[in-house]
Formats: sequence, C-alpha cells, structure tokens
Amino acid sequence: MAAIASAPESADGFAVRFWGVRGSLPCSGPDTARYGGNSSCVEMTCGDRRLVFDAGSGLRALAAAMDGPQDFDLLFSHFHYDHVIGLPFCGPLYRPDSRCRIHAGRAGREPDTRGVLERFMAAPLFPLRLDFFRAALSFNDFAPGDGLDLGDGISIRTAPLNHQDEATGYRVGYRGRSACYVTDTEQEAGGLDPGILGLIEGADLFIYDCTYTDAEYSAHRGWGHSTWQEGMRLAEAAGVRTLVIFHHDPGHDDAFMDVIAAEAERARPGTVVAKDGMTLTL
Ligand SMILES: [Zn+2]
Ligand SMILES: [Zn+2]
Repeated sequence: MAAIASAPESADGFAVRFWGVRGSLPCSGPDTARYGGNSSCVEMTCGDRRLVFDAGSGLRALAAAMDGPQDFDLLFSHFHYDHVIGLPFCGPLYRPDSRCRIHAGRAGREPDTRGVLERFMAAPLFPLRLDFFRAALSFNDFAPGDGLDLGDGISIRTAPLNHQDEATGYRVGYRGRSACYVTDTEQEAGGLDPGILGLIEGADLFIYDCTYTDAEYSAHRGWGHSTWQEGMRLAEAAGVRTLVIFHHDPGHDDAFMDVIAAEAERARPGTVVAKDGMTLTL
C-alpha cells in the first residue's frame, strides 16, 4: 500500500483511492475523524483513465482535487442518497470542456438514469437542475450482469446485488489485475451469494458492504446490508487476495472501527478497513 497523488499516474498504474467510506449518511465530527465521515465515493485510476464509483459526499473532496477540465467515467451502484448526494458538488461537471460518461444498471427501468438524476436535482429538493451541468454527459443504462468495455484495456463485469431498489456490483480488470466494488448488498440467508462469488473469484481487491458486525446483523435483517465477517467468508471462498471493509455504519465511531480492524486482522491478515483519503495500489 502506498500513497499516490489523486491525479492519474503512470501508464499501467492501477490504484484505488477512497474519498468516502461511510454508508447511509455522512457523519462528520471528532468521533469519526480518523476513519472519515464522507459517504460512498471510490476512485480507480487505470493508467490515465479515471473511474469514479458512486457520488456520495466524498465526491466533493475528489472534485476539489481535480484540476482543470476532466474526462472520466462515473459508475453508480444505485441511487440511494448516500451514493448521490455529492453529485451537485462536482465542480468539473459545470465546465463545458469536461466529459463524463455515466453508467448504471438501470436498463429497461423507469425512470432511466438521467431521469433519476433529474428528479434528484430539482426544486424544491435542490436549487440546481441537472441541466446546469455544462460538461458533455453521456448515459449508459446497462442490465446488471452485463459486461462493459471502457476501452484502453479496461474491462468491467457487473452483477446484481441484493438490495432495496436494486444495486449493481462491479469488477474492474486492468493489465491482469482486478478490483471489485460491491456495495450495497444484504447477505443471503442460506449461504454465500453465488452472484457475488462469481464476480469476485480470484480478485486482487474486494471492496464490500460491511455495514454491520455479525452480532448486529440479526437486528438489521432486511435492511439491505451485510457484515465484515460475511465479507471475509466470501473472500475466503472466492480466493480473493485483499478484502476491504467498506460502507461503515455512521454509528460506528473510530474506537469501534479500531476493534473491527483488530479482529479482522486476526481473522484474515492483510484485511484493510477503508478510510477517507486512503490509497491502495494494485
Ligand atoms: Zn449505501
Ligand atoms: Zn443503498
């Protein structure tokens, strides 16, 4: 693990940077300062390409680190507030010299992705409309399970997740390495989710919805989320190299996260607990 600048790096570099690691709601304050309080936003750089997964409040910090016009892909897991709330605060999208390709697993669904974002950025919920963005936007509504070819050797596989209003998991392959972004999803009752196992098989990095602990889960059955222990069971079964514990519950303060980190390290050495600002290189 080594820190790099937020800007895309060397030609064959593959890095993952966490700008928002919380689920459900951003939570600022001293009790969450070390792990971070921003909601879901993860950047992957593949050579000189930038992929952004979800537009939670962490996107604001990523946008602040972007300099000048931008050309990037924005891939949504789904559209719950914790995954879109940062979108209107993405400065490069207001520049006519920026380009953004937006992807989401909403093929055949109403409204489509553009329609969802138009509803989100509309009076009286927000003062700016989607058409205030001056960047060249394109929308790719695919069916979860489809593959996406982003060019430049970046291949993406997707899978449907077990979550209210549906969510999509992603696996990014680049130069023989792979990183998976799998949130939000509830663990299956009768065993490991076969769709997720197939998606993450042999992956180098597996970012997973670890909102709860196993001890907390029974009180949150049906809420659409999973546990870090389930992430570990999936990682073991699928031969994943590194599990990244992600989408932390806002109620889990730094002291609680330290306990999870210690238990996870004992159970599966090398497991990473995501923090705002953390960069992992593959
Ligand atoms: Zn979420
Ligand atoms: Zn959700």
